[in-house]
Amino acid sequence: MADVKGVESTYIDFTRKTAKYPKRREKEYLMIGLMNEAGEVGGAYKKEIRDHVDNTDLIIDEMGDVLWYLTRLCDVYGLKISDLMVNNIDKLFQRMTPEEAKQWRIEHGGY
Ligand SMILES: [Mg+2]
Repeated sequence: MADVKGVESTYIDFTRKTAKYPKRREKEYLMIGLMNEAGEVGGAYKKEIRDHVDNTDLIIDEMGDVLWYLTRLCDVYGLKISDLMVNNIDKLFQRMTPEEAKQWRIEHGGY
């Protein structure tokens, strides 16, 4: 787990270093960028259908772009991607039946 935290912190620093936009419009720039990159993921997949090609590498690259924007947005909100993961688990955990929640805890060390 320590290694994951190291990678996450390094990646956050990297996104700060590579962020090139006007700071006063940061949030809106990042929101638009995130939507754009999500669209590029969908576009790459759409072209698989149209052109009968394998765009897996492009899709992975575009998902990385989504990650960059999402990481920057998290940073603006004082969060890390791992915080989103925990928050999302908590949210979805509430939707589980008691039996599903119990089974999940058994299989995942109590979380
Ligand atoms: Mg892109």
